[in-house]
Amino acid sequence: MLNIVIFGAPGSGKGTQSERIVAKYGINHISTGDVLRAEIKAGTELGVTAKGYIDQGQLLPDELIIDILANTLDSFKESKGVIFDGFPRTIAQAEALKKMLAERGQEVSIMLDLDVPEDELMTRLIKRGLESGRADDNEETIKKRLVVYHSQTAPLIEWYKNDGKYQHIHGSGTMEGIFAEIAEAIDKI
Ligand code: AMP
Repeated sequence: MLNIVIFGAPGSGKGTQSERIVAKYGINHISTGDVLRAEIKAGTELGVTAKGYIDQGQLLPDELIIDILANTLDSFKESKGVIFDGFPRTIAQAEALKKMLAERGQEVSIMLDLDVPEDELMTRLIKRGLESGRADDNEETIKKRLVVYHSQTAPLIEWYKNDGKYQHIHGSGTMEGIFAEIAEAIDKI
């Protein structure tokens, strides 16, 4: 089983690189952000709750997101592994993921940290907002998301280093170059 955590600040390229990993390694993909956006589009109760947090650039409560993750994980049958994109985002979520996988006799194989300079993140996200119309890709909300990233999510770098799963990836450069570094790290597992 290949269980990959793809990690990085908003705009670091997690979604783009996840697509390439899925295509090469044939594993399932969970993007908690995509799940939430689908709920918002469908107008569900969860979607209404999620929108309140997303529009403010804040994280959803851990219990809620851990529940969503567990349900999605259970829906994968005969899976070769999973890429976790946008999850975990807090230490509590990382601990929950570790427990969830252990209960299934599995573990995280590697955590890939897509490292991109802050000014480049901002430029990329503003561009994405113009192209995709994502409501949280506006300058004010991006700034809040980056603050949340530094305070609540970045501590996971140390957490995964201590867990022996951390792998740094140079997240700026060409998409192909970044993917080559990722594939090299995965092939070494
Ligand atoms: P993303 O598409 O991964 O950038 O996520 C968009 C937004 O969804 C985030 O800014 C959060 O509001 C929410 N979200 C996504 N994943 C999580 C998570 N693991 N924990 C809490 N909130 C999340």
